[in-house]
Amino acid sequence: MKMTETYPQDKARTAPEAGAAVVNAEVLLQLQELQKNYGHVQILAGVDFEICRGEFVCVVGPSGSGKTTLLKCMAGLLEPSGGQTVFEGQQVTEPPAKLAVVFQDYSRSLLPWMTVWQNVELPMKNKFAKAERPARIESVLEAVGLGGKGSLYPWQMSGGMQQRAAIARGLAYQPDVLLMDEPFAAVDAQTRIELEDLVLRVRQEFDMTVVFVTHDIDEAVYLADRVVVLSGAPTTVSRNIAVDLPQPRNQRDTKLLPEYARLRAEVFELIQSAKSHATIR
Ligand code: ADP
Ligand code: MG
Repeated sequence: MKMTETYPQDKARTAPEAGAAVVNAEVLLQLQELQKNYGHVQILAGVDFEICRGEFVCVVGPSGSGKTTLLKCMAGLLEPSGGQTVFEGQQVTEPPAKLAVVFQDYSRSLLPWMTVWQNVELPMKNKFAKAERPARIESVLEAVGLGGKGSLYPWQMSGGMQQRAAIARGLAYQPDVLLMDEPFAAVDAQTRIELEDLVLRVRQEFDMTVVFVTHDIDEAVYLADRVVVLSGAPTTVSRNIAVDLPQPRNQRDTKLLPEYARLRAEVFELIQSAKSHATIR
């Protein structure tokens, strides 16, 4: 049960245990007044929000608002200028072992001299015994639609297949939280749709917490349990929006729902206003 879910009054009264679960949702990741400057330029001006275990949170903001910067600070890949990230109660000062990142640029994230299988296996070596790995690799390749393709090299695959492989690598490692930075920005529209649904499916299957950064409003509302909308740089959180669209979602029905259109319009307005207030760089 997610912290962001709300209950109608009557339901809350008749199902107190559900309300209790909402209150007790475990906070996994906390961004506390995160700030980041590059030289004299302030990009993050105190970003503050929390992610609960099992949540799918989309962080959406205009290009240049500092989404990648924020994600790197969350992952312990970049030291903030102020504030901190806390993961399971510990301040993040280096990438936590229970966290994996999928970047936008799959062509640079897969090692070209290794097969898909070897790429997926690489981070697992620190976590799983050798005998455990083959079954796990086979199952994630199957889950991302690359069953039987483990012997291919990245350069033998399309962009969409490479990004599936990068997602498989993140999943095989079985992180507690998967951070994704605009992972579908570089693939064609049809592949993007397939990959969005793939992420929703594997999220259920592998029971993961996902933080998904995107500038795409439709994608954010379609995927998320909650959308965190960023202002333009210098960046803060302009709003947290709970997305109560029914699960499981699908590209046709979900996007026809009046609530989907309403949420989309709300995020759109916020982004437009963020753009008009952002410092032009
Ligand atoms: P987004 O991912 O939202 O497009 P970024 O986090 O990549 O935004 O970048 C935010 C701003 O910080 C941009 O103006 C970008 O040019 C600047 N920036 C990003 N990385 C660096 C860096 N290493 N040094 C200096 N400026 C940077
Ligand atoms: Mg970026």
